[in-house]
Amino acid sequence: MNQKQRILVTGGAGFLGSQLCEMLVARGNDVICLDNFFTSQKVNVAHLLDKPNFELIRHDVIVPIWLEVDQIYNLACPASPGHYQFNPIKTIKTSVMGAINVLGLAKRCNARVLQASTSEVYGDPEVHPQTECYRGSVNPIGPRACYDEGKRAAETLFMEYHRMNKVDIRIVRIFNTYGPRMHPFDGRVVSNFIRQALANEPLTLFGDGSQTRSFCYRDDLLNALVKMMENESGFIGPVNVGNPDEFTIRELAELVIELTGSSSKIVETDLPIDDPVRRQPDISLARERLQWEPEIKLRLGLQKTIDWFKTIDLDHYHPPTPNF
Ligand code: NAD
Ligand code: UDP
Repeated sequence: MNQKQRILVTGGAGFLGSQLCEMLVARGNDVICLDNFFTSQKVNVAHLLDKPNFELIRHDVIVPIWLEVDQIYNLACPASPGHYQFNPIKTIKTSVMGAINVLGLAKRCNARVLQASTSEVYGDPEVHPQTECYRGSVNPIGPRACYDEGKRAAETLFMEYHRMNKVDIRIVRIFNTYGPRMHPFDGRVVSNFIRQALANEPLTLFGDGSQTRSFCYRDDLLNALVKMMENESGFIGPVNVGNPDEFTIRELAELVIELTGSSSKIVETDLPIDDPVRRQPDISLARERLQWEPEIKLRLGLQKTIDWFKTIDLDHYHPPTPNF
């Protein structure tokens, strides 16, 4: 693949986007990071600002933008329940209008465009583990719908622009991903538990902690996104990307306490509405078509994430989340 491609990363200042920008800049690509900083801080990309092959644009993806690019990674969207429920109408607009705008841009520029979709398109799944052909069980009027339905509609738009306008698309369904640069107050389980454990505060277990998730380390996930973007076999997805190792949330809490050496206790609180009971990706398709699978085990990835949390000043991170 041509290393001098001009690449737009929407949501490029976020947890995943900022590390993706860093990877692409290091590879010599010309990188444009577009972000409205709704859930991120400029500090995430501050170290890239003096690079000649990096540009930062403050812009909202719900508004069209005129650029010349070869590839687009569409990551702009609040991702944690606390963030996407803060302004649900804005969340669905970001998914739907953001998709329309990046697809229009891709169509005009003849660019390839990758959608950061989500395991949430499966809702609270009745099929386990989840394969790409499973159509999901989403409550269209529940508190998670602004995100889940927004992402489902975005997938529809990607497929229709592909079928109707031959836009070169990629759809990746990302499962729970964690790592350095997570927003410490995003309310996600990994950031909450690490922050709480490092402060020797109680770990807030929602429900009895028997619900499961499968956690993928950030760098594994980003390798998959780049492989998918650069895949020349005609494979457009959707493809599941995540780590199939499944843990209960209680196991996660116990592991975080062990790795931080914390004196925190675990306290059970109410389980949020529509909280999926089980989630585990079937990654057979990614293995077969992308020759990809995750390498970083939860214990190692959590250690790296804890080490990063120890270096940050929490005062530098601002809400919108009510979990602040
Ligand atoms: P994040 O919140 O750290 O990053 C999202 C970025 O998008 C932020 O920088 C935010 O400011 C920006 N943004 C939000 N709305 C915007 C708008 N209207 N215009 C411009 N920028 C906007 O979250 P993340 O974990 O890095 O997620 C990145 C993408 O991956 C999201 O699309 C998310 O849905 C998807 N995803 C993430 C996970 C995960 O576990 N991290 C799982 C599934 C899908
Ligand atoms: N969770 C928890 N304590 C917290 C935050 C989350 O027990 O402080 C639970 C939450 O109910 C869910 C799981 O952890 O079952 C993962 O939540 P997260 O918000 O990280 O992601 P998602 O629900 O979108 O997978």
